[in-house]
Order: sequence, then structure tokens, then C-alpha cells
Amino acid sequence: MRPDRFGMFTPRPPTKDETIADLRRRLEASGRSALEANREADRLRTSLADAKGRLRSALFQVEQERLLRLQAERERDLASMENMELRKALEETEVLRGEVKRLREEAATLRRRLDGDRPGRKPFGLSTPSSLDPLKENSSDESRARKGGAVQGHAPACYRPFTEAEADAVECEVLPPVGDGCCQGESLRLVRTLQDTVRRYVRGHFRKTLVTYGVFECTICGRTHFGPVRDVFPGMKHDFHYVAEVLKLAFADLLPYGQVARMMNINKGTLFNMMHSMALRLAPLYEEIKGEVRHQHCIHADETPWREDGHNGYTWLFTNDWLSLFLFRGTRASSVPLEVLGGDRLPLTLVTDRYSGYSPLNVRHQYCYVHLMRDMKKMAENDPASAEVRAFTDAMLCELKAAVALQGRKELDNAEYFREALAIQARIMDICHRDAIDGAVRGMQDFFREKRECLFQWVGDRTIPCHNNDAERGLRPVVVARKISMGCQGEKGMFTREVLSTVVQTAKARGKDVRDFLVAAMRRMMEAPKESLYPLLC
Ligand SMILES: [Zn+2]
Repeated sequence: MRPDRFGMFTPRPPTKDETIADLRRRLEASGRSALEANREADRLRTSLADAKGRLRSALFQVEQERLLRLQAERERDLASMENMELRKALEETEVLRGEVKRLREEAATLRRRLDGDRPGRKPFGLSTPSSLDPLKENSSDESRARKGGAVQGHAPACYRPFTEAEADAVECEVLPPVGDGCCQGESLRLVRTLQDTVRRYVRGHFRKTLVTYGVFECTICGRTHFGPVRDVFPGMKHDFHYVAEVLKLAFADLLPYGQVARMMNINKGTLFNMMHSMALRLAPLYEEIKGEVRHQHCIHADETPWREDGHNGYTWLFTNDWLSLFLFRGTRASSVPLEVLGGDRLPLTLVTDRYSGYSPLNVRHQYCYVHLMRDMKKMAENDPASAEVRAFTDAMLCELKAAVALQGRKELDNAEYFREALAIQARIMDICHRDAIDGAVRGMQDFFREKRECLFQWVGDRTIPCHNNDAERGLRPVVVARKISMGCQGEKGMFTREVLSTVVQTAKARGKDVRDFLVAAMRRMMEAPKESLYPLLC
């Protein structure tokens, strides 16, 4: 290129081709940059969409957090409201609790007032501490069906006959038949004699004895009669002394049956049979003693749980120093004392605890002071904090003890006794007329005021004791027997126990030698089966 006139190099104007090429180049370049821009726009669009998505999720999270916060706030509010309500409910509960306590005390007072003579009163109240929890569950039918004793069809172990060589004694005495004979009295003729084995009990020793008895024939009608063996019931293998010793051990000394069987060298089954048959023979005497109860001036009564064949029952005892009547019954209802004493008015004083089963009887009642003392002690134990209860029970215990002690003072003459007894009665009633606040004290005061006629029979009649210790003492062996044997198996056992206990204990009460009395009774039964045995007890 050449410089122009100013010495400058002026570019030569481009040729057409050069211009076209230049334009084409520029066009290509702008196309490339447009493509670049498009790509950039795409990238931006994508990142915008991303950003939008992020924003959305961030917004969502914020909203969620807001909601959670709101919920938490609501819960806090609710909780504080609940707290308030709870506090209110607690206050109300406190008020109600006070009310319940007050009502409960009131109910207890009323119940105590009612309990005096309600027949359905719960058994085992305060008065029977030794039998507070005497009842087991009744046994199932299945286990009751399972009777004790030896296996059915076992080899007989009850009685072994012995030979003449083994015998300790041989008796050849032949006794004439008992009774009025046959057709005309004297028409019997001894045909032959037979021997039998009998176990006798002679002065503390067992004697295997070979005895002889006669076979007689009526000369008129030809009927056969067997003569008796001395002191042995027909069909029995033990003599009267043996039986008497068994009954004495079982019902006077009150040893358990198993021990009696061992001591008397006898099988238990034989022992039971012996006792059942004796109970049947002595049943009329039992009935006579039972009839005698109505004619007593004063009698103690008490009852204690007894079990019969897995069922709960009761032993009832009516006793004084002249007789003891036992009844084994399935019930503690007043039907039992009514069975003994009847519903008629009787000139009799019945000394009992506060059990209402005796209330329907039309007799004079005397409640036992020893039981009342127990009630007082229990009352003091139930409420050891109350000064009022303590003061009341202390005062009452003092007077009740004084009454029991006064009755023990045989050296006092009647005038002194009556003066002192009246003073004690006045003091007791004075304590029961004082104003009391405590429900239990008020209940006891009401009881003494309402049952006044059942509390002071002993004041006017020195022969009536103010406590039931005699009956309790009489029942104690029954309690012991119950604990050993857990009761009888079946009605037969109860019948046997009640008849034999009654007869033996009555003989004992009357100062008889139990063995002598029983032997005399058995001889009387043998000689004159229809005659009453009662005179032997008098
Ligand atoms: Zn005859």
C-alpha cells in the first residue's frame, strides 16, 4: 500500500467480494453469539426453575414450622387449663373426702345401733377372737366323694378271733336269756352251750377272753333263744368296761379318735362302729338331757364353727354345772336355740355373748361381760388417738372388771353384794348417759341404754354370772378337736359326737365317775332296754 498525500496510508476500500466475505464472517459470528445467548437463556431458565423450587420448599418449611409452633402453643394453653381444672378437682376431692369420712362414721354408728338385734348379723364379730377366720372354702363334690378309710374289700383287720390256747381267760358261766322268756316265761330249756371270743378291759389290761353262752329252746313253741354273755352286748366283741374306757378317753378326756384307737389297741373302723352303736343306744338319754335344759334356772350358751363333711357347721353348747348339751348343726341361725328352748316364756336366764341368734328366745338374757370387755379393748385399739374413746373404754373396763370380781367374792353377805352390785350398775349407766361426740362411743352408749334389761340380771340374782366363761371353757375342747380332726365326715359322725359328748360331759358335770356311770348304763340297757337311763344320772 502506498501513503496518501498527507503521508498517511489510507486503506484501500474493500472489494465487493471482500465485503461479502466480511459480512458472511460477521453473520457467522453473530449466529454463534445468538446460539451462545440462547444457551445462556436456557441455563438461566433452568436455574430460575431451580430457585423457584427451592423457594417453594423453603416457604413450605416456614409454613410447617409456623403450624408446629401454633400447635405447641395450643397444647401449652390446654395443659395450663387442665392444670387449673385438676387443681379445682383436687380441692373438690378434698372436700368430698371429709364428707365421706363424716358419713362413714355416721354409718358405723347407725350400723352398731342396728347390729344389736339384727338376725343376719355377720358372724365372728368382736366376741369370737379365736375363730376370727375359721372357715375354709367348701371342698368340691369330687373331693368330698372321696371317703377316707381302707380300700374296699380289704382283708378284715378289725377283729381276729383267737384260740383257747391264745386266750388270757376262759369263762364257763352260762347266763339265762334276758327278758320275760318265750311263751310262758319258764318254758325255756338249755339245749347246748357255745363258745365265743370277747375282748375285756379289766383294770387297765386287755384280756382275750373265751366266753360261753347257752342256746335255749322253748318247750312250747320250739323257738331258739340265745343266752347273753356277761357285760357284752349281743353281736359286740368288746365288753362294757372296754367301751366305757373308749368313751371316757374320747369324750371326757377329749383325746382325738386316732389316739384313742392306738391306746385301746383297736382298729379305727371298729372304734367308729362302737361309738355309733353306743350313740344310738344313748340317744333317748340325750333327748332327756335336752328336755332338761328348759327347766334350768340359768344356763350358758355359746357356739363355735365346726365342719361337717367339708361344709361349715356349728357346735352349739348349752351348759351349767348340772348338764352340758351339745348340738352339731349346719347353721348358726336362731332355729337351733329355739329347738332346745322353744318359743314359750321360760323362767330361765340365758348367759350369752352379744350374738343376736339368741334374741328370739322368750327368756331373760344376760350378756357376757368378758365379751363386752373385749369389745371395749378392741374399740380402744381401733382409735388409739382419740382421748374420748380412751376415757370411755377405760372407765367401762374398770366397772366391768369390778362386776366380774364382785361375783367372785363368795365371802360377801347378800346385803353387801347387792349394795356393791347396784353401785356398779349405777356407775355403768352414768358413763352411758354422758354426752359423747365420737361415733363409736355413742354407739356403745346406745347399746347399753337399749339393752339394759340384758345387762344387769346378775345384780338382782347372785346365782346368775355376768360372764360366759363356763360355756367358753366347755367349748374349748371342741375347738381343739376341730383343729385336730377338721370336723366330722357326715351326719352320722355329728350325731354320734353330739350324743356322746352330751352324755359323758353331763355325767362329768354331775360328779359321776364316767366309766362307772357308763358301765351301769350299759347294764341297765341290757337288763331293761325300755327303761330310762336318766335316774342313773341323778
Ligand atoms: Zn315259745
